[in-house]
Amino acid sequence: MKNSVRLINYLMFSILLVGFISIGCYGQEEYKDPKNKALNETYPGGSFYEVQNFAEPVSKKLPKNIILMIGDGMGIVQVYSAMTANGGHLFLENFKKCGFSKTYSSDNYITDSAAGGTALSAGIKTYNGAIGVDPEKKPVTNIRELAEKKGLMTGLVSTSAITHATPASFIAHVDSRGSYEDIAADFLKTNIDVFIGGGVKNFEERKDGKNLSKELKDKGYQVLYKIEDIQNVKTGKLAGLTAPEHNIPMPERGEMLVPATQTAINILSQSTKGFFLMVEGSEIDFLAHENKTPGVVLETLDFDRAIGAALKFASSNGETLIIVTADHETGGMTLNGGDYTTGKVVGKFTTGSHTGVAVPIFAFGPGSDQFTGFMENIDIANKMMKLLKLK
Ligand code: MG
Ligand code: ZN
Repeated sequence: MKNSVRLINYLMFSILLVGFISIGCYGQEEYKDPKNKALNETYPGGSFYEVQNFAEPVSKKLPKNIILMIGDGMGIVQVYSAMTANGGHLFLENFKKCGFSKTYSSDNYITDSAAGGTALSAGIKTYNGAIGVDPEKKPVTNIRELAEKKGLMTGLVSTSAITHATPASFIAHVDSRGSYEDIAADFLKTNIDVFIGGGVKNFEERKDGKNLSKELKDKGYQVLYKIEDIQNVKTGKLAGLTAPEHNIPMPERGEMLVPATQTAINILSQSTKGFFLMVEGSEIDFLAHENKTPGVVLETLDFDRAIGAALKFASSNGETLIIVTADHETGGMTLNGGDYTTGKVVGKFTTGSHTGVAVPIFAFGPGSDQFTGFMENIDIANKMMKLLKLK
């Protein structure tokens, strides 16, 4: 009872505070805008959700399916802030194999999400800003393309625009991460089965006048805009475009990432040859850029519940490897206080940008034992490719 009152108070407080900037539209670069940097370092606490235990399948076989879950900007402090906010527990605790990823890019100690995404998708270090190209700007093959070529089904889910750096790294090949319309066009060059995220504008309001949603429909995709409709899809090709640019942050976004993840798994798990799915909790990074602890907490909790949905499938399926990691840490966040009984979290940030610190890796299911200890971010992609026998 107390918790729900606290949650309602918190929701009203959030809506008053961020209402007009976040309702309706969340622009591609808005999270980097200094006007959003009003100091908001304490999460007052809110309602808790129940965390279930899932038995990890015991198997010496290679995985048939991989679900890669990327918390953008999610360092161990972001994880622990959410854990504290949920009374000390997260679905992430089901993961018994943990490691660390060294995130630096080919040209910078501190990576961005483009080089970080390309490291995780293609297994190469490249320059900041590069999407699916190497330091010489030559296209590199990513794991989703290799999986597709081998007959596996593939999918992408993100809370950001689906054309933003992280999901783009699994689809596109462009010199510069800001080429959103070129990235959208690259979706048509693939045979991807499911993608769900924001970014309608990049498909339908283009400088070249093309309507890529129409082209997607002509190719056999169901193009849907509301999560309520998307989550009813059981089979066939699906393009879910749920916002003009990025989906708005939590709590205003409501249920999107969890049903999107479940829908993608429902469709992809019908594949006889297996599947590769990437799910991104995109906006942990955005709110950490803005140095807002409540936003970081709520985005990380939302991502953890999506991890719960993936665990539920993987635990019963037995042939699915889940990897949860980050492309980099954002905000140089630390915790100066917390309370497991109320869920209060007192965060503190050292920067409005990314940091160079190693980020956690969590693995569950067949092949998970390969993801312990320190490794390069590119090792994650190369190990996944080997486990799916893609190279
Ligand atoms: Mg991202
Ligand atoms: Zn960022």
